[in-house]
Amino acid sequence: MKSEKPIQILIEQCPHCKRKHTYPLIIQRVTVMGLSGNKEEQKTFTCVFTCPNTGEQFEAQVSLKKAPQENILSIQVESASL
Ligand SMILES: [Zn+2]
Repeated sequence: MKSEKPIQILIEQCPHCKRKHTYPLIIQRVTVMGLSGNKEEQKTFTCVFTCPNTGEQFEAQVSLKKAPQENILSIQVESASL
């Protein structure tokens, strides 16, 4: 299992406070031998984010690139950096 540096996800408009937030996401990927395909794929995941201003949660879709022989195990959303 590889651990990666967090990537930054920008939420353009928070549904609660209508402002922009940037969240670090920690993605756990695992390499799977024998998976077919040879193209990078774009996959969409639904993640739960917490608004740093109101403390309320909301869901948003996140689009991530995935190598052919790789599965995304989990996505962890960190606290927003204001
Ligand atoms: Zn907000």
